Amino acid sequence: MDLSIVISLLNEEESLRELTEWIHDSISTSHIKDIEYEIIFINDGSTDNSWNVISEMAKSDSHIKAIAFRRNYGKAAALHTGFAKAEGNVIITMDADLQDSPEEIPELYRMIVEDGWDIVSGWKKKRYDNVLMKNIPSKLYNWTARKVSGLKLHDMNCGLKAYRKDVVKDIELYGDMHRYVPFIAKNAGYTRITEKVVIHRKRKYGHSKFGLDRFVHGLLDLMTLWFLGKFGKKPMHVFGFGGLLAFFIGIILTLIIITTKLVAQSKGLPFRPVADQPLFYIALVTLILGFQMFLTGFLGELVSRSSQNRNEYKIKDAIR
Ligand code: UDP
Ligand code: MG
Repeated sequence: MDLSIVISLLNEEESLRELTEWIHDSISTSHIKDIEYEIIFINDGSTDNSWNVISEMAKSDSHIKAIAFRRNYGKAAALHTGFAKAEGNVIITMDADLQDSPEEIPELYRMIVEDGWDIVSGWKKKRYDNVLMKNIPSKLYNWTARKVSGLKLHDMNCGLKAYRKDVVKDIELYGDMHRYVPFIAKNAGYTRITEKVVIHRKRKYGHSKFGLDRFVHGLLDLMTLWFLGKFGKKPMHVFGFGGLLAFFIGIILTLIIITTKLVAQSKGLPFRPVADQPLFYIALVTLILGFQMFLTGFLGELVSRSSQNRNEYKIKDAIR
């Protein structure tokens, strides 16, 4: 199999036929018309007629494969399941709502096969979504994602992306992590990541499935990924360092408080009671904080110690 097109969908009954036909047309009229490909639909718990439409289409179209979740698990779960099923050497994901154009497929495919990219991420340079709700927040969010991930992508969360097979088989998506597949792949050691400007269109039917909470969740996930990528295998290095620092400052402050009091006492000079000094409270807080950070670090180590994959590394090559 050369190409798998993975499409996750939630209540997109009106779009599915049009989308499937358009995919077939785009491939059969292009330079990749002879490739062997499959279209994998992941029905993410749709409550409309989507599944009937898919099973009806699958009767006469052997390219179509499909999985239906019993309930809605989210796009990341759907893509993960689609990735596991995919047999193609190249995997292309796209949204089911006709906002992504299948006409991009041949070029995306070529960029993976011929130019040797691991990931080609779509960039909706001209975007047809609500300006206030999506376009502007998305710019801000992509800027943050660029800074944190170190990936120079303008549109990390674009639904239209192409992957080399190894990439999708190697990474794990869950929760809302579909937004950061390139970042996850980078953490897994894939570095050949680029982007391609893609055509974007207005949503033709139905409505967007993601509300405003996308931004809060997106930001939290970004922080998690950053942390896991940097310290996932050694949490003590973050918390231990902070703990040491806080503890050290606390000890120094305590020593200062004690010596000033002792010195004043021995010379018979007046001095403020220890519990009246701001420094005393600062010392107290830093000591407790330092101790707690240490504990967090140890707990983190215990957790990562008991994890199944703590000694799982991404192996690229081996000889003999
Ligand atoms: N989607 C999904 N599960 C969900 C939410 C969305 O599979 O829980 C699908 C949806 O059907 C569409 C794609 O993910 O094919 C992108 O969703 P949407 O168009 O609502 O996002 P937007 O384009 O507004 O960012
Ligand atoms: Mg959409």
